[in-house]
Amino acid sequence: MNVEDQNLARYFEIARSARRCAVLTGAGVSAESGVPTFRGEEGLWKHFRAEELATPEAFARNPELVREWYEFRRSLISEIEPNEGHRALADAESVFETFTLITQNIDGLHARAGSTNVIELHGNIHGDRCNHCGRIRQDDEGLTCPCGGPFRPDVVWFGEQLPQEAIERAHAATVSADLFFSIGTSTQVFPAAQLPYVAADSGAFVVEVNPEETPFTRHADLSVRGPSGEWLPRRSTSSRRRARWPRGEASRIGR
Ligand SMILES: [Zn+2]
Repeated sequence: MNVEDQNLARYFEIARSARRCAVLTGAGVSAESGVPTFRGEEGLWKHFRAEELATPEAFARNPELVREWYEFRRSLISEIEPNEGHRALADAESVFETFTLITQNIDGLHARAGSTNVIELHGNIHGDRCNHCGRIRQDDEGLTCPCGGPFRPDVVWFGEQLPQEAIERAHAATVSADLFFSIGTSTQVFPAAQLPYVAADSGAFVVEVNPEETPFTRHADLSVRGPSGEWLPRRSTSSRRRARWPRGEASRIGR
């Protein structure tokens, strides 16, 4: 048995007895469904990149343009379906005593797959909130909040702080977890990137699932090289569910 096999055996042992599980997901999970990131040169929309539109400055300068871009993205996302990775994570809610899904994704696909306990660190693209008072826009309201402020997409833009309440809940779930998964995230965008380290420091067994190596890889107790949609969707079908999620096989785990 080599080291990786030992870690895998330990993982299955821990997965059987773990009571509190927390998961961090990133762009990789959405990308498996085909959600575009609009980052970099390949993600242009009307000659703009995400970095030029997803900012408070862009919204202040041209709110119509920013709203139009978000409408376009919302319509794209509404056509996209959750993948097997999303569905496996929704299944996992019933496997553990507590299960917290922390996501950096704004597309709402985890909820659409059936997850109910989701902390959206970067907000949700399907909602709007007031740029002044933070009030969430109701369906029958226009573009202006009763307070006079403009409604904007309920997401965190470049240069903005993450919502404090979400960060605190994510941190609390992470420090109390005995099993933690970091899935489809490059672990390079802070503060979310800190969570796998916090989990490891707090004594959790930490599994990383990502097609590529990340800065966190060498700190993970078990590292799985591959897309989440391939490794996670071992659906629990028997009464001994806890032992069966996720049912990763040694042969599918990258060495
Ligand atoms: Zn307002």
